[in-house]
Amino acid sequence: SDDFAYEFAERVERVEPSATLAISNAANELEAEGHDVVDLSVGAPDFPTPENVVEAGKAAMDAGHTGYTSSNGVPELKEAIAEKLRADDIDADAGDVIVTPGAKQALYETVQTLVDDGDEVVLLDPAWVSYEAMVKLAGGDLARVDLAPHDFSLADGLDDLAETVSDDTELLIVNSPSNPTGAVYSDEGLEGVRDLAVEHDFAVISDEIYDEIVYGVEQTSLASLDGMADRTVTINGFSKAYSMTGWRLGYLHATGDLISQAGKLHSHSVSCATNFVQRAGVEALRNTDESVEEMRAAFESRRDMLVDLFDDHAVDVTVPDGAFYMMLPVDDDDSAWAEEAIQEAHVATVPGSAFGAPGYARISYAASEERLKEGMERLFDAGLLGDD
Ligand code: PLP
Repeated sequence: SDDFAYEFAERVERVEPSATLAISNAANELEAEGHDVVDLSVGAPDFPTPENVVEAGKAAMDAGHTGYTSSNGVPELKEAIAEKLRADDIDADAGDVIVTPGAKQALYETVQTLVDDGDEVVLLDPAWVSYEAMVKLAGGDLARVDLAPHDFSLADGLDDLAETVSDDTELLIVNSPSNPTGAVYSDEGLEGVRDLAVEHDFAVISDEIYDEIVYGVEQTSLASLDGMADRTVTINGFSKAYSMTGWRLGYLHATGDLISQAGKLHSHSVSCATNFVQRAGVEALRNTDESVEEMRAAFESRRDMLVDLFDDHAVDVTVPDGAFYMMLPVDDDDSAWAEEAIQEAHVATVPGSAFGAPGYARISYAASEERLKEGMERLFDAGLLGDD
């Protein structure tokens, strides 16, 4: 019999599959063949979830917190999130928080809430892979500002941003600390965004999921700047700071109509985030200062180790001030480079093109110092990186 001819939605057809997924599949295949792969492609902290958070999750299950919660989240968690936001100088109320199964879901819902067919959405490249897909899935049109020529600095790229945005701009997505560059945008850069957003009256998504992972710099929340409270959707989550990637917990915060419209979309797409996971989230926000600092310090010393290593080998990297990623300058054909790195040196990286940054490869330093050194030595030895 004839196969049924599927008609796929064009919006879905024009989205690329995840580049990081393709790399990790290649890494898994090599490992299945018995090769030792140094996998630096992953965006997940290599630490266990803090023990007290795990215990809080178990206790919540034992206490029977396994049913639906209200769609926007349990009051205790929304209050703990509002407290965190207030500590970041955002004038936040628990009623303006929506808890989601992960920050990715919060981003997806926000883009769906704000973007219509043909709306212009501006990305700062290099940008996290899913933003482009989310905008396309909402029917939006992308405009991109390349920060690579400015060493990934937003402040230095403000003139380019000013030339790109206009009264037609609906939304700008900002991610600081940044995946994939590790850049933490300075107040000068963020205030420049504010000035343009106010001038052209557009909304801003501020994805702050790496805000706890910074190295000696301050991370300012966009919504805390004058003029930004009503036009900013602040996104955050528990995956990175608390090493809770598989728990799936995140949130969005905005005010007024923005949050009530987002709430409608949320209630029809996700009944609620998992009940006992939300309870564990309260513990994560309130009682993990030491574990968070331990992880942050470990990432910082890995960053320092890598920067020294690249100095020794004359690899010119932009030193990241946050998150756990670094962009390596590689061949113009970064996809071919990444393919060679994994097939020849068995080192998994993500080609910069996936983030709109050809000529780079992203490494994640969510791996032990020993494995990071091993990976870099393999790249040096294979002549894929550095001066030898
Ligand atoms: N935003 C950025 C910039 C990320 O790098 C990630 C995960 O890699 C997310 C959002 C999504 O995080 P979550 O695990 O909370 O969905």
